[in-house]
Amino acid sequence: MSVSEKIKTEVKNLGFDACGFADAEPLFAEEKHLKKWLNLHYNASMVYMENYFGKRISPKLLYDNANSVIVVLLNYKPEKLLPENSPQIAKYAYGIDYHFVIKEKLRELLAIINSNIVACNGVAFVDSAPVLERALAVKAGLGWIGKNSMLINPKYGSYTLIGELLVDIKLDYDKPIENRCGNCFKCINSCPAQAIVEPKIINANRCISYLTIEHKGEIDEELKSKFGNRLFGCDTCIDACPYNNKTPFHYTKEFMPNEQFFALDWQNLTQSDFNKIFKKSPLKRAGYRKLCQNN
Ligand code: SF4
Ligand code: SF4
Repeated sequence: MSVSEKIKTEVKNLGFDACGFADAEPLFAEEKHLKKWLNLHYNASMVYMENYFGKRISPKLLYDNANSVIVVLLNYKPEKLLPENSPQIAKYAYGIDYHFVIKEKLRELLAIINSNIVACNGVAFVDSAPVLERALAVKAGLGWIGKNSMLINPKYGSYTLIGELLVDIKLDYDKPIENRCGNCFKCINSCPAQAIVEPKIINANRCISYLTIEHKGEIDEELKSKFGNRLFGCDTCIDACPYNNKTPFHYTKEFMPNEQFFALDWQNLTQSDFNKIFKKSPLKRAGYRKLCQNN
């Protein structure tokens, strides 16, 4: 077995669902797309997206010795859903914050590579540094970018969370696969806020996911009226995608919500209950007050 094959086996053993390898050369093709999105101010108040532009395009500027990027996917499609009439939480946020879960597994992977396969230095990233992780996943052959700007994997659809390990070793790189959206426009047509202004371009100023999590301050009444019962995030353009119909349910125990989650009285949830129940949850990113504002 080659080093690359051995690493992929260990990635599977750690519970990841898919893995691909890309070289760490700059992502020049992404530069134009990112610049266009920023110039249109579709990043709303996420000004951090304008920072470290060079690092976003070039992984080597994040880690000097980077030769390769190991990209992993972790499925998060839950078997049990919140009742349709209750306040809705994005499905990726049902359990423990994926940043912790994936980073821990990636650190473990690096230790295993070193002890069992080959000497290797590396750094793990999970949505925590200026990394164009969807573009890297495409380069690593893990899917394509759908019209809703999500990574679409042929087996797991877009119900995946992405992590990257930048490493100093060279690997056998995977080949990108073709975009299979075809003539489908289901995600664009499903968006209640008309936030997908053209294929792969999301105007965050209108996106309910952004507005319910990241946005600080008042929310325009016209947009607030589009929230429906969405309390944290929005899965509508994900749920509309036919590639998500056959995604198997995840088996990552950290993503399983506790029993309280399904029986919560959101109207009367106190700050102290919120702190206890959502101690390690992605909901802390929005915070108690923000959830009250969205409710
Ligand atoms: S997350 Fe919701 S609001 Fe944002 S683009 Fe998708 S469907 Fe539209
Ligand atoms: S809903 Fe259709 S257009 Fe949108 S990402 Fe899925 S396949 Fe592509």
